[in-house]
Amino acid sequence: MRTHKVAVIPGDGIGLEVIEAGKQVIEALAKKSGDFNFEFEDFDWSSKRYLEQGEYIPEGGLAKLAKFDAIYFGAVGSQDVPDHVSLWDLRLAICQGFDQYANVRPARVLPGVKSRLEGADKIDWVIIRENSEGEYSGNGGRVHQGLPDEIGTELSIFSRKGIERIHRFAFEMAQSRPRKKLTLVTKSNAQRHGMVLWDEVFFEVAKDFPEVEIDRELVDAVTTRMVLKPETLDVVVATNLHADILSDLAAALSGSLGIAPTANLNPERSFPSMFEPIHGSAFDIAGQGIANPVGSFWTAAMMLEYLGENTAAERLMAAIERLTESGMQTKDLGGDAMTRDVTAAICADIEAQG
Ligand code: NAD
Ligand code: MN
Repeated sequence: MRTHKVAVIPGDGIGLEVIEAGKQVIEALAKKSGDFNFEFEDFDWSSKRYLEQGEYIPEGGLAKLAKFDAIYFGAVGSQDVPDHVSLWDLRLAICQGFDQYANVRPARVLPGVKSRLEGADKIDWVIIRENSEGEYSGNGGRVHQGLPDEIGTELSIFSRKGIERIHRFAFEMAQSRPRKKLTLVTKSNAQRHGMVLWDEVFFEVAKDFPEVEIDRELVDAVTTRMVLKPETLDVVVATNLHADILSDLAAALSGSLGIAPTANLNPERSFPSMFEPIHGSAFDIAGQGIANPVGSFWTAAMMLEYLGENTAAERLMAAIERLTESGMQTKDLGGDAMTRDVTAAICADIEAQG
């Protein structure tokens, strides 16, 4: 029996609902397999905890988390805490603390899901986001606070090492896929220092991957290409900020923010990697039982694959595709199914699989 120790951080809002659903689905897969089990440990690191105790992560929290095989994360964000506080104190503290520098965001239209985009069925992308530096390096400051001459700076930091490792990761990803295409996205016409370094290092790394077909695009231009010629893209590599934006667009084009998954990987496995649906805490629908849990299921499939449970990951993806194809959909996709209906249907499918 293989045992996977997973730290669970549901966080806030619908994070609590979709992660609970995801755990049920993982339990169903473990039961079906009989060869592995999951030991979940729940962490109440959330905005509620912050408001009560003044911190998201208790002292020594990250060291405790470091002992797990993976982290299953919901979402963080509350109307009572500034978003930059919740993001930096919880999610980014983990991503940056554990050097999860490769953020992987697959996008494709699942069967039965209607996209508003014509030709969306041709979307089959993986967006690779640099997840440790760049625009989210946390450097900058404010001077003359509150005065008319106040200035705020936001400093982007790009290191050759940081750039090289994310490009190498992206090339490996492209090489492993049938079409073997990689698009470099920057803004090196307007931003002439860090972005130019990104471009240069990309073409250096490219020499080691002759099988990968490469091209480049400016970030503004690539948004139009995503909409107008979705079939021309395969793997895309971009900076922390650019890929953050592009991947939300990708999620919307492929159906709903409620479906899209993310892996925050530390590819060297020196620290645990973290898996989360792409969406936030969605306070507009929290507590109603109507959140789409498919994003957290797809996320669970990525986590299972990372943990070496490929059969279970395939079973789960097959169940997800049968579900979307069947037309059972939550409100975000135009249906009226509840989170628990979708979860029960997925568990039943898994149980019935041969
Ligand atoms: P959001 O993703 O929470 O919601 C955007 C819209 O999509 C909302 O209308 C919401 O109802 C809908 N939606 C999102 N997920 C859904 C699901 N699973 N099922 C059905 N509908 C879904 O983004 P937001 O409204 O910009 O942010 C809300 C809070 O979440 C903010 O505090 C923000 O900082 C935070 N946030 C956190 C993360 C994260 O933890 N990784 C990511 C994005 C936003
Ligand atoms: Mn985002």
